[in-house]
Amino acid sequence: MTTTAESSRTEAALILERCDDLAGLSSQPERLERVHLSPEHKAANALVAQWMEEAGLSTWQDAAGNQCGRREGTEPGLPALLLGSHIDTVPDAGRYDGMLGVLLAIAVANRLRDVPLPFALEVVAFSDEEGTRFGTALLGSRALAGTWNDDWWNLTDADGITLFEAFQDFGLDPARLPGAFRRPEQLVGYLEAHIEQGPILDDADRRLAVVTSIAGARRFALTITGHAGHAGTPYDRRRDALAAASELVLEIERLAKQQGVLATVGKLEVFPGGLNVIPGRVEFTLDLRAEFDTDREECLRLVHESGEEIARRRDVSLHVSELYRADAVACDLDLRAAFEAGIRSTGDASPMAFWSRAGHDGMAVSAVAPVGMLFLRCKDGVSHHPDESVTRADVAAALDAYEAAVRALAG
Ligand SMILES: [Zn+2]
Repeated sequence: MTTTAESSRTEAALILERCDDLAGLSSQPERLERVHLSPEHKAANALVAQWMEEAGLSTWQDAAGNQCGRREGTEPGLPALLLGSHIDTVPDAGRYDGMLGVLLAIAVANRLRDVPLPFALEVVAFSDEEGTRFGTALLGSRALAGTWNDDWWNLTDADGITLFEAFQDFGLDPARLPGAFRRPEQLVGYLEAHIEQGPILDDADRRLAVVTSIAGARRFALTITGHAGHAGTPYDRRRDALAAASELVLEIERLAKQQGVLATVGKLEVFPGGLNVIPGRVEFTLDLRAEFDTDREECLRLVHESGEEIARRRDVSLHVSELYRADAVACDLDLRAAFEAGIRSTGDASPMAFWSRAGHDGMAVSAVAPVGMLFLRCKDGVSHHPDESVTRADVAAALDAYEAAVRALAG
């Protein structure tokens, strides 16, 4: 390692300062919210482009609003090793989810600016990973991967603006979108550093981990329909949709634990919603995620079975419709080995390795390139919250590991 511990800490301090700068680009005065194709997104792209150029990269904004930078390898036009993450946020976000990965990538490019590499090096700041504005996630990375769906042009935000119109308002031409598509032969791989968004590293008192796979997830809208009625109705005459839903929610938790799957009912609405009215209808959501798709599918089958049984017994009906599906993505073994070597170079002889419970841009990029991910500890595992927190020492270690991983792939 050519860099001293002292300079790593200085670079880490700069990265954290830049996270603060990006956190200032928000549509809300009191909290961080920066969504796809917003004025704040435009400002963030401009700032990131400036930092990319200072790191020796030539920059462009691609046809999907992703901010990109590139330097050539030992000869021009070589396939690129792509480093990056996203710069959009959820509402009331923390300042590290996504942004930290972009800034670490830029810092790696800066460290390697004079090092000849057998591949081009590119950094990307994806325009949309969270899906906050249009409800569909990974729009930036899916554009880059060429897995775009033209139906998405009709997606609307809370103000009724379509994605098509938002592209135009941002100064992008929807007809040019295919210009953002990358082909497998243009990429040697994709590396992303990201906060863990979970407590595993913090609980183990470790800084960094290698990601083995990115969880697959399926999301559903469930409706239970019974019959609304007066609160004086005797039990044997009731068809209480909320009592049935409550039973199913607890059953979902029990089955998921039993299968080693994570299940979340995050939204639940009761109709008609009167204090003295038996609930006639309940609408709720289910998010199911697992390391292996087979476990997730088995859990889903059991949830269906249990839901049907509860519905029969309580004389209500259950309807399930799917909102989203992404299958699990395994990280590439060579890229995992590179990050493992990188972590070892920071003094951690046996790097932790585990699966990501959260979705990431790598899920989309895996359509065109092998993907690898590095996780950094975040305090108490908190994310998607202003309390998101990382330490300067961990960022310095991540930067060293990330650089060493790229060097390992170059060697
Ligand atoms: Zn993220």
